[in-house]
Amino acid sequence: MPRLRFAWLVLLPMLALAAAPARAWDHRGHQAIGSIADRLIAGTPAAARVRELLAGDLQTASVWADCARAVAATPDGWRYANAGSQAACAPFETADGRSGLVDFVARNERHRSWHYTDISIAQPRYDAALPGARPADLVQAIGAALAVLQGGRSPPPFDIAGAREALRLLAHFVGDLHQPLHVGSIYLGDAGQPIDPTTAQQAAAQANAGGNLITLDGRNLHATWDDTPDALSSALASSAGLARARQVPPTAGPLDRWPAAWADDTLAAARQAFDGLQFEPRAGAGWPARADETGYRQRREALQQAQLVKAGARLAQVLAALWP
Ligand SMILES: [Zn+2]
Repeated sequence: MPRLRFAWLVLLPMLALAAAPARAWDHRGHQAIGSIADRLIAGTPAAARVRELLAGDLQTASVWADCARAVAATPDGWRYANAGSQAACAPFETADGRSGLVDFVARNERHRSWHYTDISIAQPRYDAALPGARPADLVQAIGAALAVLQGGRSPPPFDIAGAREALRLLAHFVGDLHQPLHVGSIYLGDAGQPIDPTTAQQAAAQANAGGNLITLDGRNLHATWDDTPDALSSALASSAGLARARQVPPTAGPLDRWPAAWADDTLAAARQAFDGLQFEPRAGAGWPARADETGYRQRREALQQAQLVKAGARLAQVLAALWP
């Protein structure tokens, strides 16, 4: 399902025609991140606490927040509508698992909007007051999960029920926070020129839904960044991937600043992600773009891999900080 926000509902029929599925790293990408973190914390108190809370590992839990997208409103209430269609969601399709997903969505109907923020790449850093940031955006969602994991309550509008749900969300959202197009946005004027919106209204009018409304050589740009090729995820599952993750520097400063600090770092990655693209004037719902295809793909895959490694390493860092 494409990344949605309420104001885009009118565009859905067009998106459905133009866009491949896009869900902020595909399941393989999230599982690769979870697997790196599982291996980095192996044998530590954090690993014991993770096992106790999840009765499983981070690799499996990392996709739970995307599986929740399959909970749909029906005349009889919320229903999990996806059984059997996604192998990665199968561990959550027991009766208990399905009711956990349904219960989460019933408490948090707007959960889809937690998976991203839309900070202009013209800005130097994430700030909750910027156009494109929201009280329930990705950075704030990670903060809410951390509040619960530290023994507190989730601040509204989040309603996170307990440490297991919070850890499932954290394992997913630290991944999303490292997908460049889930953090940084190139806002475009109608002539295809980059702009830096000064108001939330201007940001909404010129938004491209994290690249979902940009087509690069006919493909949804957001989807090309979510997609992690087999070769890439299997490289991360190897000992070489683990060795790279061990080289990611520790995050400085107090824990509650980490989500914003990581967002700043991903904003820099997003500037690279949009570098080398030429945009044409707005046509219908979106903007066509062009690039040197081979060069852009090579740079994209290198940056995707670096970001997946960082996400796995930082997920491990935050768990080690929570449960030293
Ligand atoms: Zn996501």
